[in-house]
Formats: sequence, structure tokens, C-alpha cells
Amino acid sequence: MNHVLERLTDARAALGEDLLILAHHYQRDEVVDQADYVGDSLELARKAADSKASHIVFCGVNFMAETAAVLAGPGQSVYLPRQDAGCYLSDQAESTSVRSAWEALGQAMDVEREILPVAYVNTSAEVKEFVGRHGGLCCTSSSAADILRFALDERPRALFLPDQHLGQNTARALDMGEEEIALWDPRYPAADLEQFKKARLILWRGSCNVHVRFLPQDVHRVRREHPDVRVLVHPECRPEVARLADEVGSTSLLVRRVQEAPEGSTLAIGTEQRLVNRLSQTHPTKNVFSLSDPAPFCATMSLTKLPDLERTVSALAHGEEIAPVFVRLKTAGSARRAVQRLLDFTA
Ligand code: SF4
Repeated sequence: MNHVLERLTDARAALGEDLLILAHHYQRDEVVDQADYVGDSLELARKAADSKASHIVFCGVNFMAETAAVLAGPGQSVYLPRQDAGCYLSDQAESTSVRSAWEALGQAMDVEREILPVAYVNTSAEVKEFVGRHGGLCCTSSSAADILRFALDERPRALFLPDQHLGQNTARALDMGEEEIALWDPRYPAADLEQFKKARLILWRGSCNVHVRFLPQDVHRVRREHPDVRVLVHPECRPEVARLADEVGSTSLLVRRVQEAPEGSTLAIGTEQRLVNRLSQTHPTKNVFSLSDPAPFCATMSLTKLPDLERTVSALAHGEEIAPVFVRLKTAGSARRAVQRLLDFTA
């Protein structure tokens, strides 16, 4: 056993039940191998919420660790081994731009009565707080359709942020027409407001820089090269890719589909490279590969390496002061409401 692994094993043993290590599916194998639980952001948020451990070490990116911190009970702290692990998608909806958009839309309509804000979990705690404070709720990719349907029953319009592609793919699943959708571009906040009065769904113009890398020509190529292929993609992919796929689904659904596929199946997956590689390795009797070549990977998810995890856990075991993920009390209240509504909705 190498020294890093030895130190990590000793520190884990010292902390015992007081420690919970969570890892997202897109993390490096060396990190995933050490996790108590591996999952997508919702599964990990639930594990964090159900845990009694006083130290939750979250190997993922900052919005996920913040969500866990928002749900943490008294005496629990959440640690992110790499504090610089951000998310390109969540960074595209800064809370100041979201507040400005709300104010601008308020010039055209009574926003509190006419728009329900819905935030994908890939948003900062401040954005979740904004959504919770205005009566809205969070969603995940697997719950987006149900939550959007609910939002549109509650108020005439929904503001969906920050992923325009998830929003469009969900709108298609709900049979909404293009004329019912308007795009809010935070770079041009002085847009013509009339279009938003006509829309039922206002989409924030943001996207994930990993999933937008899959293109329609990738689907055409794999179908040419593998006539028996099933193409499965994440809903953060572009709608023109999602339309060509055999199935569109959340990270957990993609994992499940690979597990359920009969031996000998050929599956091209449109999601992050590390997860696709792991699925390919754990299912050697199935031909599992990335939809695109080269396969896109998430640079910020890749930041966390085994020594980062070890340093965090060892510091906790030795009682050293390390900064937990901090969410201001004022922010945490409404943010928790928005996330809790999601958890209740999907229970
Ligand atoms: S894959 Fe995309 S959405 Fe997920 S953490 Fe990376 S940038 Fe954010």
C-alpha cells in the first residue's frame, strides 16, 4: 500500500462512524475507490441529509458540497477536498444576474404571481436561496419534467435556470411548443420584455461545457460504425443530440441502463468521460464507449486527487482546523426550503 493510502486508511479508522466520504460519479477512480457512497448529486445530497456523521467529506464540486452543507444538521460539517472545484454551469447563473433578471421581468409583469423560479441543483446556495425566497424549488435532471409540470400548475410561467438544454429537452418531454419558450440571456439583460410575457417557460441561457461537446455528427458516426448501437445521453446535451438519441436520462438512469443491458450490447454514452470509462471497465461483456471521440471530461471534477482527500481526512483525524464549506445562515434557510421541496417531491 502506498503512503498516501496508508495515511488515509489510518485516519479513516481513527474517525470511524464520525466520517462519511461521498464521491460523485465523475470523480477520478482513485477517489471513487475510497468513497462510502458514489452517486449523482441528488443521491449524494440524500446520503448527506440522512447521515449522522459529524464530518462529511464531499468529493465533487462546490455546489454539491454547498447543498450538503445546507441540509446538514447541527454538529455536522461538510468539507470539499479541493475548494477550487467549481462548476462551469452553475457559474453561469450568478445570484446578482438572477436578481437583475427578476427585477427586469418585474417591469413587464407581476413576477411574484406570474413566474415560479426553478433552479437545477447545479446552482450556488445564493441562487437556491433566491428561488426558495420567491416560492420556487430545485430540480434534478431526473425530476425536471415533474417539477416543471408542477411549476406550471402553480403559476402561469416558470423561470428555469441555469441549463437551457436541460430546459429545452424537458419542455420537449412535456410537449411544449417552441413558441411557448423564451431565452433569457444574462449578457443582454435589456432584451425586449414582450417575448417573456408570451412565454410559459423562460430559460436561462447557460450550459455545461462538457455535455455541449456532444454533437449530432457524433450520433450519425456511431450509428454508421455500429448499426446495433443504443445511444444514451444526459439531458444537459444539446436538444439536437437528444432528439437523435435512443434515450435521454439522468446520470443514475444512464448507469442503470448499462447495468440492465444484455451481454453483448453496444452502448454509446453521451456523458462525462470518467463515468463512461468506469462503466466500460465494470461491464467487460458489453461494448460501452463514449459517444464522442475524444470523450469530454469535466476539468473541475478531475481536480480532486487521492492526496487531496487524504490531507482533508488526516487533518480531521488529527483535530487540525480546516475550513468547512460555509453557507451563511441567512442564505441557508430559504436554500434549504428549495432543496427540501425537491427531496419531498422525489421521495
Ligand atoms: S460536468 Fe458540467 S455540470 Fe457537471 S460539474 Fe462539470 S461543468 Fe458542472
